[in-house]
Amino acid sequence: MKCKIICDLLPMYIDEVCSDETKEVVEEHLKTCSECRREYEQMKAEISLNEAEDLDEKELMKKGKETMMEYVKDKVYRKWILGDTILNLLLSVYLFAYGMKGMIEEGGVTFEGINIGGTYCGILFAVNLIYWVQYLRKGDLGISNSVDAICKWSLGLKFVFVICAVTVAVAIGFYVMFSGGSV
Ligand SMILES: [Zn+2]
Repeated sequence: MKCKIICDLLPMYIDEVCSDETKEVVEEHLKTCSECRREYEQMKAEISLNEAEDLDEKELMKKGKETMMEYVKDKVYRKWILGDTILNLLLSVYLFAYGMKGMIEEGGVTFEGINIGGTYCGILFAVNLIYWVQYLRKGDLGISNSVDAICKWSLGLKFVFVICAVTVAVAIGFYVMFSGGSV
């Protein structure tokens, strides 16, 4: 009969929500009764396991959310890199060919500059390709820092160009509007 009462008290005892008197009674009994002691050990193990699982679950949820956000961020970033790769290819081919043609037919610093611009885009395109090779082989972790930095630089350049182009376009727009038609 006593053992039954002790077993009923064990959960409270383990959770430490019983009075000091109860605690003493339980402890005294556990010292002398091996059966209740076994029951106690088992219960304690189960409870700590449940707590650990709860904690794991929370941790997993948090991790999952973080991973998800990282994933979305990476996906968006990679789309930009993909766009930039294609842009670098088109720019390098176009600028290089245009500069070459101009240099042969007319000559001059302007065409040389265009040609060099095309070569530069070609180099950026080559680095973009390295990026994709590294990504396809080992995923995100496979991308070396220098390659990532150059890809970011290349992307940044395009943003600067776009901003400059928009600014110039707006400036020309205003000029045309206020000068009455001719640039
Ligand atoms: Zn007992």
